Amino acid sequence: MSLTFKAGDMTIHRVIEDETTFRTVSQFFGDQVSPELLAENRAWLKQINALEADDVLRICFQSYVVRTPHHTILIDTCIGNDKSRSQFPAWHMRKSDTYMRALAGHGLSVNDIDYVMCTHLHVDHVGWNTKLENGRWVPTFRNAKYLFAKREYAHWETEHKTKGLETNGGSFDDSVLPVVEAGKAVMIDSDHQPDPMLTIMDYPGHTPGSIAINLKDGGKQACFSGDIMHHPIQVYHPDWSSQFCSDQDLSAKSRRKLLEDCSENGALLCPAHFPGANAGTIKPQGNAFRIDWDVQK
Ligand SMILES: [Zn+2]
Repeated sequence: MSLTFKAGDMTIHRVIEDETTFRTVSQFFGDQVSPELLAENRAWLKQINALEADDVLRICFQSYVVRTPHHTILIDTCIGNDKSRSQFPAWHMRKSDTYMRALAGHGLSVNDIDYVMCTHLHVDHVGWNTKLENGRWVPTFRNAKYLFAKREYAHWETEHKTKGLETNGGSFDDSVLPVVEAGKAVMIDSDHQPDPMLTIMDYPGHTPGSIAINLKDGGKQACFSGDIMHHPIQVYHPDWSSQFCSDQDLSAKSRRKLLEDCSENGALLCPAHFPGANAGTIKPQGNAFRIDWDVQK
């Protein structure tokens, strides 16, 4: 598992907050996965450290930092510290230095980030957007502009108006709105390019405004796909949507489109939650796809 790898002229760092057991296959995918299909996949999933005993999935919680010749871009900001997350006991009032140590391990400080981007606004993708300072939530990355996808933001803003403080486990209130109120947010849509190497693509379904972030340099593309897929098994079974997808059918369509796009573009797929080897290139295989893991040292 490499924590830093290259794609063309870009340098990509993984900033891991946690890699841990999560739900069982059936809790995560419901009844889409038959015992026979799971039996077919169990051995290779265990081999890549993506499945544990009792068919419990392993999941990584991580950010990516991409250094381009122009900018330093942080993609997704994980869980965060000091956040009240009563619906998610493992993430409640965390006080951990793991994330900041991982950032420092790449020679980076919070002041070095030019852009923060969130593939979507779920609670485990916005946490480090803010930190608690003198009792107030303030942007953690003080020199950064935070780029939020317009459609995604609009969805959660509407939810917030109807459901209030508990929206997204409380994260809209403590990790998104304070960034907007500090004047650091920029709402973007798919034609927005803050960096000449960067494009975003809509892949709705996991959430209404989920995007993938594409960065291309030196002839090589990297695709940061957030939660359009959560686990390596979905490369081989793209029709399996998680119980956390707001529209499972649309999520499956978007996942297949993402895999087709990555395959056609030769892109290095960098998903938010894949454990172990983590990133790879996508090739068609039968009615689905396979992943050739990136094994750079
Ligand atoms: Zn997630």
